Amino acid sequence: MGRCPTGTLPGNFPRGRKRGLQTALQKEIIREIETLLGNQSIADLDFEAVEMAARRQSLRLAARALEQRLNTDTSDHVGPQLPCPCGGSAQYHGRHEKTFESVLGPLHLQRAYYHCEQCASGFCPRDRALGLESFSLTPGVLRMTASAAALLSFEESSGLLHELAGAEVSAKQVERAAEALGAEIAVDEHQQVEKMGQVAPTMYLGMDGTGVPMRTPEVADRAGKQADGSAKTREAKLVTIWTAESRDEQGQPVRDPGSITYSAAIESAATLDTSPHLSDFAARVQREASRRGFTEAQRPVVLGDGSNWIWNSASELFPQATQILDRFHAKEHLSQVGKIIYGDSPEGKPWIQARYEELDEGCLKSVVQALHGHAGQYKEARECVRYIWNNRRRMRYPKFHKQGFCTSTGVVEAGCKVVIGTRLKRAGMHWTVKGANRIIALRCSKLSGRFEDFWERRSDQRKAAA
Ligand SMILES: [Zn+2]
Repeated sequence: MGRCPTGTLPGNFPRGRKRGLQTALQKEIIREIETLLGNQSIADLDFEAVEMAARRQSLRLAARALEQRLNTDTSDHVGPQLPCPCGGSAQYHGRHEKTFESVLGPLHLQRAYYHCEQCASGFCPRDRALGLESFSLTPGVLRMTASAAALLSFEESSGLLHELAGAEVSAKQVERAAEALGAEIAVDEHQQVEKMGQVAPTMYLGMDGTGVPMRTPEVADRAGKQADGSAKTREAKLVTIWTAESRDEQGQPVRDPGSITYSAAIESAATLDTSPHLSDFAARVQREASRRGFTEAQRPVVLGDGSNWIWNSASELFPQATQILDRFHAKEHLSQVGKIIYGDSPEGKPWIQARYEELDEGCLKSVVQALHGHAGQYKEARECVRYIWNNRRRMRYPKFHKQGFCTSTGVVEAGCKVVIGTRLKRAGMHWTVKGANRIIALRCSKLSGRFEDFWERRSDQRKAAA
């Protein structure tokens, strides 16, 4: 397909003048639709079959027209040689044909090809200029692939692209393209740290971690939670920032729709005390905070569960911020301890409920007293006492409420599920650290509404380089 030895396109488009091509394409599409409809009565139509066939045919005609337009233009042959990025000189080697998957279906394009002996590789200037250098996918299909892979498995993405867009992208192509874009996004995220969007009077920053299932070689030498001391997962750490200037009917702060952004990766939050550098994760938190203007807020608040790395990072980066132990997490913790102490017996529920109320009222002493009664028998009760003691200043909930702060958000907890769990922790999924971090980067960019900006910068950079 795509060869027109007689000088016309399939469907007898005249070569040459633009206007002629336009009307010929229009006429041809109308004729195709008439053929599809035939003489049958409209009431008897299989509408789905007709609409799908009409789309396929129209796209096929448009693809042929676009192919012809591009293939008759040989201005990408700019002389016998071109400078190669390696510093050598690349020689013209004729026009090479390649099939690209586009939103119009397959496109067969002939492009001027230059080959460099010094680095034994070649390139097509037109591919660079048009953004066709990625995995035989056109920019339109590449963007669709990224959107699908940010949400779904590579296999599902491939199926969805076929069903919705008629685009044929194999699961392997989806994986390669999504990971390559994720890697670009990760680099871009390090560079784009200037403030975007409004600074609210009160801003919330949450941190949390969750295990990502790994391929065996990725965790070979690591200690973990398995019975034999080995590890099956690596912890992805997440920072999320949001605002809650809205109020519900009772005047309580409510999270502002669309205000949540995320940044996450499998990386360390630890540094040596002697190191002048931030840990990789602390640096990530700082970049996200700069983008959101977190430290410019009159009242910055850090929320998290009881993990030490969270409060260490918070104290190091934002000493001025109010630290709140997310009440959602605190209650989850108390509920777990209650279930261990009481099992399925009916006393369990009221015991847990009573601790929730004491917690809400700020009566930490009562919570601790209730736990002390079980401390001899259950190590979980002893640990919970320590947890409350260590975090007591972060659990002054009545005081925080008077100040109008959110204390039980679920945002941090949900963040790990939304960003990591629903995409990376599904049955049968096992990741490399590199692969997981690339998909997490892609997903954070999509979920935080930053992908469009990234895509624009990417297109501009490609044009400038070509
Ligand atoms: Zn070269």
